[in-house]
Amino acid sequence: MKKLEALYSGKAKTMYITDDADFLIAHFRDDISAFNAEKTASLSKKGLVNNHFNAFIMQKLEEAGVATHFESLFSDTETVVKKLDMIPVECVGRNFATGSLCRRLGTEEGIELTPAIFEFFFKDDALGDPMINSSHIHTFGWASDQEVVEMKELSFKVNEILFPLFQKAGMLLVDYKLEFGRYQGKLVLGDEFTPDGCRIWDIKTKEKLDKDRFRNDLGDVVASYEAVAQRLGVELTALS
Ligand code: 5GP
Repeated sequence: MKKLEALYSGKAKTMYITDDADFLIAHFRDDISAFNAEKTASLSKKGLVNNHFNAFIMQKLEEAGVATHFESLFSDTETVVKKLDMIPVECVGRNFATGSLCRRLGTEEGIELTPAIFEFFFKDDALGDPMINSSHIHTFGWASDQEVVEMKELSFKVNEILFPLFQKAGMLLVDYKLEFGRYQGKLVLGDEFTPDGCRIWDIKTKEKLDKDRFRNDLGDVVASYEAVAQRLGVELTALS
């Protein structure tokens, strides 16, 4: 497969078109951003770690029956993905209270959420990704009612697969953000699953091991992502 010109560049990934119209190449850059890109940095090796991390998780999800856009690793920082028609909605699952949930509802940080909470957000940087519900998705035509049901079901299924995976490695999957798209008429998990878009705490110490290290200036951001990857058994050895 040939990598051609950039299609668009997000905050941490650049998507390239390829010589096959059905596939894109996602380049995981070293860039990191928070607070709607008010805080940005470039962290050496982050692209490599997240590329391999994402490949590992996407393959685990595929094995467990969740359709994803993942095709194959292309290089240490690049992955071949199916070209999806993306739904402009972020699906957030929460197992423990933190982040915007606590800010919005005054919930005590760290309490277990049983059953897990599910939320939709409208993917729009200019608006700061506002929270929405299925009525907004329906009225504005962002997804069909069937897709809304499926996005929620798949988000819980991802949790059922990944929560025990992290737990066995001594970590808590606190919350996570998923994005879906359509491929040949079917709903497919897109974007990425990395410590940039989920929260992971050490099960015993509750130490934050994800992007909150960057948001809250806790340091050792990439070292922490690497430690999570190693605990899960992600192969980080350079391909080339
Ligand atoms: P919160 O709503 O508490 O800010 O975020 C909930 C979860 O979704 C966290 O794991 C957070 O990292 C993830 N998340 C929410 N919005 C975004 C986003 O725009 N980009 C990324 N990378 N993650 C997000």
